[in-house]
Order: sequence, then structure tokens, then C-alpha cells
Amino acid sequence: MIEDLVTVKRSKRAKRVALRLDPVERVVNLVVPEKMSLKKAYFFAREHEEWVRETLEKLPPPIAFTDGEKLPVFGDMVTIKINHNPELKRTTLKQYDDILQVNSYQIDASSRITTHLKKIARAGLADMANEKAHIINKKISSVSVRDTKSRWGSCSQDGRISFSWRLIFAPYDSIDYVVAHEIAHLVHMDHSKDFWALCRSLSCNYVEGKYWMQNHGNELMRYGKG
Ligand SMILES: [Zn+2]
Repeated sequence: MIEDLVTVKRSKRAKRVALRLDPVERVVNLVVPEKMSLKKAYFFAREHEEWVRETLEKLPPPIAFTDGEKLPVFGDMVTIKINHNPELKRTTLKQYDDILQVNSYQIDASSRITTHLKKIARAGLADMANEKAHIINKKISSVSVRDTKSRWGSCSQDGRISFSWRLIFAPYDSIDYVVAHEIAHLVHMDHSKDFWALCRSLSCNYVEGKYWMQNHGNELMRYGKG
């Protein structure tokens, strides 16, 4: 039944009915203009039922931060090893080579792992950003990481740069492209020809990095929660 496959979202702004994937919530939304009847909207959805099913089936499975799980971090595979021991007083995390060793009294240590990965994300992305800013003789005021759903990076007029922390799970060329993109905004606050030329010159592999983000960026949302 199509009614079980889609989530209805009434919209004041929508001019026509549409089906849209929300990769964060892992649902297909049926966006219905305010004045359209639900019956008519479901009729539209039913006509595209195959697309809805295929889209949901194609979603890559979520990756939780549990024992044995492998995560690509800045392009290197890191395996989570969790030693659960209820007698431990606190949770400790140590990363060496390709292992993230977690010793914890908690059964679910995923929020601690998330915090650790966010720290790694901030440090690594700040290094990459500073390196690129140095090339063009610009200064960054600050680099922060956020839990954004739709934007991978942003740059303010006064040089504050922020990234989605989940960017670290992208292929290295893609991370590099997003960093180059934000650094290029330190010079051009638009998406003009000059901006793209600078962005390209600051990227290792602009074409592939950008292509991957456009076509697979959504997949980064499957890592961890919150
Ligand atoms: Zn931009």
C-alpha cells in the first residue's frame, strides 16, 4: 500500500505534488500543496510506487558505531573495537593505526564515539582548511563542525568556516573539494566563474570530488546518530 510507503507533508509553498527522499529520516515524503486533496496526492504517489520502492531499497544501510564496524575516516578504514566491562569506572577511547579501541562500562558507547569522531573531524578539517588558506594568503577566524543535514560546509564574511562532521566519512578527494570550496569563498562570496576557477586550483581532484559529493553526499548521513 502506497499509504504505508510515503510520509505526507503538507506544504504551503509547494505548487504541485511531489515525492522527495529524506536520506536522514530514510523516508520518502509526499509533499502535498495545501489545497490539494489527499486522495489526489495518493493517486499521484501510486503512479510512482515503483520509484518509491526502488529509492527506499537503494538506500545504503545505516552504519551504527558498534563493535567491529568499519568506518572510512579521512579516506582510511578504521575499525571500532569495543571492550565492554561493567566494572570500568569510565569510558576511554584510543585510536592507533586503523583501530579505534573503546573501553567502556556502557553497553552503548556510540555517543562517546560520536564525540570522539567530531573532535577528529574538527582537527583534521581545520588543518586542511588552514593549509589551503595559507596558499592564497588568507586567514581563517575559526573552524567548527556541526550536525547539518543539507550543507556540507559554509563560510561567513568574517572568515568563520564550518563543516558537517560527517564529511570525514567521504572519500578523501571529496573532503578536499568541500574544504577548497569554503576556502575559495574567502576570496569570492559567490559562485562566479572566478570562484570555481579558484576552487578548482585549490582542490587535488576537483572533478571527482565534486561529482561524488553531488551524487553520493546523502550517503554520509547513514553514519551514526545525532
Ligand atoms: Zn559555495
